[in-house]
This record gives sequence, structure tokens and C-alpha cells, in this order.
Amino acid sequence: MALDPQLLDILACPDTHHAPLGYDAGEQTLTCTECGRVFEVRDDIPVLLLDEARPGTGPGTHSEVA
Ligand SMILES: [Zn+2]
Repeated sequence: MALDPQLLDILACPDTHHAPLGYDAGEQTLTCTECGRVFEVRDDIPVLLLDEARPGTGPGTHSEVA
């Protein structure tokens, strides 16, 4: 399943900068273009909670899986 591009358009980081998010269809994650936090998409519902986010290593970077 893919997120609706229109939905993606209105989604923003829940942090104060409200930056746009980049969608990774393979990983089913949304990555903030500003702070690099990674938000999971569960059952096609983006979990845009700072408490649930994975800390980013920077926008556009792909960290190795431990
Ligand atoms: Zn952010």
C-alpha cells in the first residue's frame, strides 16, 4: 500500500519546524527533511508522534541496520 500523495502533501513533522516529510514506500517510513527523525507508517497510518519517532541520523542518510 502507498500513502496518498495528497495526504503526504499535508503531513509535516510534529516538531516546531513542521518541515515536510519524505516517504519511503519500501521501508514504510516518513523521514523529516529538517531534523531527520523517522516516523513509522503503521497500517497506512503515519505515526507522527515525537515520542514514537526514531532519532534521525540526518536527512537523506541511510544508516546501516545493526
Ligand atoms: Zn522534524
